Amino acid sequence: MRVDKCYFCSTNVYPGHGCAFVRNDAKVFRFCSSKCHRNFKLRRNPRKVKWTKAFRKATGKEMTIDSTFEFEKRRNIPVRYNRDLVQTTVKAIQRIGEIQARREKAFFNNRMAVAREKLRLVRAKKRAARKSKDEAYYEYIKKRDAEMELEDQEVQVDVDLVQPETMEVTEKVKEKITANSSKPAKTKRLKLRKSLGGGDGAPSALVPSEGRTMGMEVE
Ligand SMILES: [Zn+2]
Repeated sequence: MRVDKCYFCSTNVYPGHGCAFVRNDAKVFRFCSSKCHRNFKLRRNPRKVKWTKAFRKATGKEMTIDSTFEFEKRRNIPVRYNRDLVQTTVKAIQRIGEIQARREKAFFNNRMAVAREKLRLVRAKKRAARKSKDEAYYEYIKKRDAEMELEDQEVQVDVDLVQPETMEVTEKVKEKITANSSKPAKTKRLKLRKSLGGGDGAPSALVPSEGRTMGMEVE
């Protein structure tokens, strides 16, 4: 009995399972499943398909060099049946399996440790980049605030410069208004008084007399 390896994914192909393709140069390709056979017919390279053992070994994801693989090698020398040999080989298979599992675990842990270290470095780099970016942003905000304050001060200075001018203008305008409006107002008032029949010295109704205030305060 011979347990073959699948040509595509490298799993065990037990007798009576899977299928085989024999090329016209008599090379036999064994496949564990129709999936592997299909991928072979699609002319895919097992080293480039991620779920195969060939890919995992080629990219350093699994052990490649180990003394335990020596027992699994294909031997084309027929061995005569021997009861003791079978017993020892059965025992040896278990022991070798244990050793191989332990080594694979160690290999995996080592690989993960390296990956973790790499990830840690990448994260530290990212964190540093983010920190520097934040600091740059804070600097920018500080600068902007300072500029804004400066601008505010400038605006205030402008206002101070502008205010006296406007005040002068308004005062001038007021003077003009008073100068223009005072003369006709006086004449009008005089005319009104004359028309009412009162002399220049006559008390007007608007000026408060002794007893007639009518409850209103007049300036
Ligand atoms: Zn397969």
